[in-house]
Amino acid sequence: MMKQIIFILVVLIAAGVFAYSIRNIFLNIAFLKKPYPVKDFGKRFKMLFNIGFAQSKILRFPLIGFLHALVFWGFLAILFGSGEMLIDGLFGIEGSLHFLGPIRTLFIATGDIFAFIILVLIIVFLFRRFFLNIKRFQGVEMTHKAHKDASFALFLILMLMVSLLSLNIGFIKSGNYTEEILPISTILAQFLPSISDAHLLIEVSWWTHIVLIFFFANYLPYSKHFHVFMSLPNVFLSKLIPLTQMYNMERVTEEVKLMMDPNAAFAEAPAEEEIERFGMKDVEDGTWKNYTDSLTCTQCGRCTSVCPANQTGKLLSPRKLLIDYRARMNEKSPHLRKDVHFDDQKSLVDNYISREEIWACTTCNACAQECPVNIDHPAIILELRRYLFMEESAAPSALNTMSTNIENNGAPWQYPPTDRLKWADDLFINEA
Ligand code: SF4
Ligand code: SF4
Repeated sequence: MMKQIIFILVVLIAAGVFAYSIRNIFLNIAFLKKPYPVKDFGKRFKMLFNIGFAQSKILRFPLIGFLHALVFWGFLAILFGSGEMLIDGLFGIEGSLHFLGPIRTLFIATGDIFAFIILVLIIVFLFRRFFLNIKRFQGVEMTHKAHKDASFALFLILMLMVSLLSLNIGFIKSGNYTEEILPISTILAQFLPSISDAHLLIEVSWWTHIVLIFFFANYLPYSKHFHVFMSLPNVFLSKLIPLTQMYNMERVTEEVKLMMDPNAAFAEAPAEEEIERFGMKDVEDGTWKNYTDSLTCTQCGRCTSVCPANQTGKLLSPRKLLIDYRARMNEKSPHLRKDVHFDDQKSLVDNYISREEIWACTTCNACAQECPVNIDHPAIILELRRYLFMEESAAPSALNTMSTNIENNGAPWQYPPTDRLKWADDLFINEA
C-alpha cells in the first residue's frame, strides 16, 4: 500500500512537470497563426508508415541506419512493458496485462531482447561520439552544450536498459518467474553469481527504471532528444506538395490576378485586412510547422552533410537554422504570449541567422530530401528571403536588378518588350 501511495505521488509530480512543459509548447503552437495546410490524410498515414514506422529514409544508410532503426523499433517494443509497469504501480498489482496471454509474452520477450540490443548500440554510439572524429557531429552549431545534451540523453537510455535488464535478471534469480520468456536475461543470469536477495534487486531495479522513465520524459522537452516524441507526428504533418514548390502568399496571388485581369479591377474591392508580414523576420512570422520542425530536429547533421553550400565552405548549415529557430522561439515566446507586440530589438534575421547564410542557399532541397524526420529547411530559408526581398529590398544586387526588370519590362532582361524579337532580325530571309 505504501509503495502504491509513493508511486502515485511520483506519477503526479512527473505528470505535472511534463504537462507544464508540453503546455508551453502547445501555447507556442497556438500562438503561430500563419496557416499551414494539413489535408490528404491517406497520403499522410502512408508516409507515417513508410518513413515513421518502417524508417525507410534512415535505412538508406545500410549499417548505421539499420542500427538507429533497431533502437527505434526496440523502444516501441519496450513501451509495452513500461505501460504495464505504470498500471501495476498505480493499482498496486503485478502483471496487469496478463490477460493478453501470448501477446504479452511476445512483447515482454521482444522487449528483453531489444533492451540488450539497445544497450550495446548506445555504447557503440557513445564510443563514436567520444572517440571517432565523425564530421557530421561537428559544426559551429554543435556547441559544448549540444554535445553534453546528446551524451547525457544517451547515458539516460543506457541506464534505462541496464535497469530493465537487471529487473528481468532479478525475476529469473528469484526463481518464481516461469510464465514469461526472457531470452537474454536468462542467458545473462547464468553468468552472474547467485543473489541472496533477488527480491531487493527487483525492487531497486523496478524503481530505478520507472523513475528514470519519468525523468527522461521530463528531460526530453528541453533536449534535442525531444524527437522521441516529435518525429512521428512531424512525419505525419510533412509537406505533401513537391519539395521545390513554394507556398504562395494569398494576398500577393490576389494582387497578381487583379493585375492580369483588367475586369477584376472593377469588381468589388477585397475587404481591408490587417497588413501581414511579407516573409519571416522573426519566429512569430513562421508557421507552427516551422516550430515543430525545430522541435523535431535530432541534430544528426545529415542535412548539413549534403548541403552544397556548406560543402563548398559557405557559412550555411541547414542544421544550424533549425537549432537557431528553436533557440529564438524559446527566448521570445514567453514574452510574446504575454504581449504580442513584445520587441527586444532582436530578430531571427541578423541576430541568429546572418544574411550571408540566407543567400548562400541554392534551394536544391537536398537537406529536406535527406532529413530522416522530413524537416523542411528551405521553407524557413525562403520565408527569410521573402522578408529581405519584399520588405527590405535587401537582396543581392543581381536579384534586385532582375526584379526591377521584371517590373518594368515583363522579363528578367534589360530590354523593353518591343525589342524582344530583335535577336531574330538577321534570321529572316529577304524575300524581295
Ligand atoms: S534537420 Fe533533419 S537531417 Fe538535419 S540535423 Fe535535424 S534531423 Fe538531422
Ligand atoms: S536547399 Fe539550401 S540549405 Fe538545403 S541543402 Fe540545398 S543549399 Fe543547402
